[in-house]
Amino acid sequence: MSDPTIFTRILQGEIPGEILLETERVFVLRDINPQAALHLLVIPRTQEYRDVVELAAGDPSLLAEMVEVAGRVAAAHADGQFRLIFNTGADAGQTVFHVHAHVLAGELQEKSLVGH
Ligand code: 5GP
Repeated sequence: MSDPTIFTRILQGEIPGEILLETERVFVLRDINPQAALHLLVIPRTQEYRDVVELAAGDPSLLAEMVEVAGRVAAAHADGQFRLIFNTGADAGQTVFHVHAHVLAGELQEKSLVGH
């Protein structure tokens, strides 16, 4: 088993973090370094998939659930319109290799490109 990722450690309560919602398979964490008025991360509980390409190949229904939850939190915490970003690979700005979707809503930081 690989070492727990920062997101797993937050989920397990080892590290503080604001978790807004949990389902059987995913949880929603407020990003510590927000790039928009609302910046949340939708994260599977499992850390077995490093990125969205692995996830889509390995468990497409979990990916679909992440998108559904993103829509739900964007409706609950903003006006329901949002940007959904999966940084994939270090050169694309991915820093945590435990797949996660960025949900950005409301006013964005100028030319917001998460991870840059
Ligand atoms: P990535 O760059 O991998 O696409 O996104 C990782 C995200 O995780 C970044 O937006 C970063 O701000 C967020 N992040 C990293 N460490 C922590 C943490 O300890 N707590 C929270 N809430 N977010 C974190």
